[in-house]
This record gives sequence, structure tokens and C-alpha cells, in this order.
Amino acid sequence: MKKLPPLTTLLNKIIEIPSISCVNSAYDMSNLAVIELLADWFASAGFQIEIMPVPNLPGKANLIATLGQRSQGNNGLVLSGHTDTVPIDQKLWNTDPFKLSHQQHRFYGLGIADMKCFFPIILSVLPEIDLSKLKHPLIILATADEETTMSGARALIQSDKQLAKHALIGEPTGLIPIYAHKGLMSHSIKIFGKAGHSSDPANGVSALEGLTRVIGVLVKWRQQMQQEYQQDSFRVPYPTMNFGYIHGGDNPNRICSLCEVQFDLRILPGMHAKQISDAIESEIKRTIDGTQLSFQMTALCDPVPAFVSSPESEIVKLTSQLTGADPETVAFGTEAPLLQQLHCDTVVLGPGNIAQAHQANEYLSETTIIPMQNIIRETIKKFCY
Ligand SMILES: [Zn+2]
Repeated sequence: MKKLPPLTTLLNKIIEIPSISCVNSAYDMSNLAVIELLADWFASAGFQIEIMPVPNLPGKANLIATLGQRSQGNNGLVLSGHTDTVPIDQKLWNTDPFKLSHQQHRFYGLGIADMKCFFPIILSVLPEIDLSKLKHPLIILATADEETTMSGARALIQSDKQLAKHALIGEPTGLIPIYAHKGLMSHSIKIFGKAGHSSDPANGVSALEGLTRVIGVLVKWRQQMQQEYQQDSFRVPYPTMNFGYIHGGDNPNRICSLCEVQFDLRILPGMHAKQISDAIESEIKRTIDGTQLSFQMTALCDPVPAFVSSPESEIVKLTSQLTGADPETVAFGTEAPLLQQLHCDTVVLGPGNIAQAHQANEYLSETTIIPMQNIIRETIKKFCY
């Protein structure tokens, strides 16, 4: 294994490379430079490198770096993270977001907590581990577009990659092991009517009035759903449904011919996105049945399933011992349910804090680095030796 530069140099190098992903193509960037940097580093550490382009997304790729033979079902460990960050509002930053800044025991930089720090911290641990003792594979997974579509992790599922039995995702959880989170689905409902002069209602069919009826019905449906599904392990113990965007019409003297609402729905483990969207569609159908209105409901993104692994699973128990923290649930989504589809027993646990993610002056507390190095070292020893 070649000697790598010190941790702060590695952190600075990965922060220096912008890798913003955004649903708005004007802000969306390639993550290839980060993937190549990581490929270089892990190759120097003796890993076999596979760069996997994400199909139909030029400029986006995943990295799979492996020590030992990959095998499903046996032991082994995946250390997984995403390479992209959210966009920035540079004028709100006190420092250059693309330069590592070290002040008052904090490291500042875009994506430092969520979650670029994870890869340099892994690399900083490797020299302390006797890699010749490895009996089971150690895999480093670095994905594309987690912040937007999760297309990187979804491409891994499509290609049915074999990884390893256990997985740890270093998302910012403040060093608390996370064994469950809600899922996310997001849809648009468009109601179509007919435009006409407002002086006579018979001149048209109001899509706006149709949509207000539909929303009324869906608010009642939401109430039922929230009574039906409850899990006390979540801070908000029921599924939520937020109507976050509405638009329709153009002028008070015209009957509105098109009105749209967009909502997001945070589902609990055990709820299936397809069944929920089918139920919503049939509520809409029932509401506008017998009118001259029509509708279209479309998904704004592929649903992210909810995630739950057993608090009794080996990796949850081990990381709970190592951190001294009981496993918890969170409200934000991760790639964990997708790694589960690749048969990995998964925990989410990282040094950053979600309170600092996705905002200006994002930082990582220096004091979290040694505990995270310890977690990584002991997890590798437990599952790969
Ligand atoms: Zn993240």
C-alpha cells in the first residue's frame, strides 16, 4: 500500500472538486472527477477498481472498489457513500465552500458532512488494518446522484451487483446508528376542464373548482391513512402528505381550464408506494366521476422506499456497542433500502450532523473523526477478518 497524504489534505482535495447534482439541469454537474480521485486513492491502497457509468446519464458514474472476492451471502462489508452534493448559495458562506477551512475544531466545506468526509476517513484508517488478514471482501461504494434521483444506486440494482453481507452508509447521523427511515414519493395531479367566458358558467368547466374538491377529498383520505398506519419509533409517528405547490388559471374573467397540485408523501416501513398511489388515483376518479373534468397523475420522481432493518441485526448491534448509542430512526431518506435490495444488511451511521447538511457553512466537528475511525476499523475487523 502506497503512503497517502494526511487526512486534512485528502479532505481538501475532495472538497475542491464540485460535484453538485440537481434536478434543474442548469446546476447539475458531472461527478466523474470525484470518482476518478477516489479510484486513484483506493487503487493506491491496493483495491481493485471498477468505474460503472450510470446508463443514459453521461458524466455520472459509481465507483466500486474491492479488496478480496465479492460474494453475496457470505461475510464482508460495504462502506457506502454518495459523491454528489446539493447546490449552494455561495453568498451565504463565510468561507470558500470549495476550500477546506479549519476553524475552532470544525472543518468547513460544501458536502463535508453530507458526506464527502466519509471516504478520506476510511482511507485514514486503512494503514492501521492488517489487510493480509482479510478473509471476506471489503468494498467501497461511491454513488452518483443520491441527492436527486438515486440513479447511481438504482443502476447497481439493475445490474444486480453482488456486494457483501453487511453495509454501513456514512450519511450524517451524528454518530448514532440508524436502522429505519421513512420512504418518499412525490406526485403531480393535473385536473383538466374547459376554458370559457366567466359571465356564464355554462361556457366552460372549472378545473380550479374541480381541484379544490379533489384536495378536500385527499385531506380526508390522509386522515384515514394516518390513523391506519402508525409507528411509534418515528418522531412523527404517522405518514405525512404535504401539498406543496398549486397553480391554475390565468385571469379572473376566464373559466380555469387547467389546475395542478404537487405533493410529497413520506411513507412508513411496510407501506408500498404503488398501492398508495393507486389508492390516491381511485379517490380522484371517484371525486370527478360524472363531471366533464379529466385528470392526470404523474410521479415527479421514482419513489424511495422506506428502510427498516432489524435493531437486532449484527451490524446494528455492533455499531450500537461501538458508539454506545441505541439505534434510532430518522426522517430523511438514504440509499439504505436500495442496498437492502442488493442483499446487504444495512446500517446508516456517519460523523456529520444532518443539522449542518444542505445549508451554508456546512461543517464537520473535528471531535467526531476519531470515533468514526474507530467504528470503521472495528467493523472491518468484525466482518472481513
Ligand atoms: Zn447525504
